[in-house]
Amino acid sequence: IFVDMDDDNRLALEKGELLPLMEAFHSLQGEGFHSGKSAYFLRIGGCDVGCHWCDVKESWDPMKHPLVSTEKIIRDISNSNIDTVVITGGEPLMWNLSYLTKSLRNLRLKVHLETSGAYPLNGDFDWICLSPKKQQPPLPEIKKITNELKVIVNARNDLIWAEKQKIGLAEKCKLYLQPEWSKKDEILPVIIEFVKNNSDWTISLQAHKYMNIP
Ligand code: SF4
Repeated sequence: IFVDMDDDNRLALEKGELLPLMEAFHSLQGEGFHSGKSAYFLRIGGCDVGCHWCDVKESWDPMKHPLVSTEKIIRDISNSNIDTVVITGGEPLMWNLSYLTKSLRNLRLKVHLETSGAYPLNGDFDWICLSPKKQQPPLPEIKKITNELKVIVNARNDLIWAEKQKIGLAEKCKLYLQPEWSKKDEILPVIIEFVKNNSDWTISLQAHKYMNIP
């Protein structure tokens, strides 16, 4: 991806000592099982999954984001009053997350991952939220260890697809349906009816957007 990168940076990126960091901020988790809880977010640039409704298209091109030393990311977090770090993107599994996640867990922080599952898992996590996408379905390995499945619902037939995504999950995996933000007024009533008839699913709303926080 980084065609003009010098060899030192390329090696550091491969080792996970550098990451294309789009943003880092302390906020509240707005989605899914941990909704409403304080968390520090690391948004890593880079994604080639290509969801047409993606609300972070600025994340797609990793070259638009600075390569930041993982040491610095960890130092900044260790100075924050937080107990949970959410690694999101983009698609964070495009990068080597082992060094970052091991270091954060050594600081006794809980490390959560938000992923489409399109790339092989790497790193150590306390919680994995899998948000599968039709264009690049998740790899079977990640489904077995997913704690939370979160399907974004943009149209009625996404609910049929959501049901199929349950195949291969661990028994205890939580199931969430989340209306795609730009379609929420029209799709939410459909999801409400579906959940009333399919009680293994729970609705996830993007609570951070209602609270006007990042
Ligand atoms: Fe956007 Fe996530 Fe889809 Fe990538 S996987 S295009 S970041 S919604």
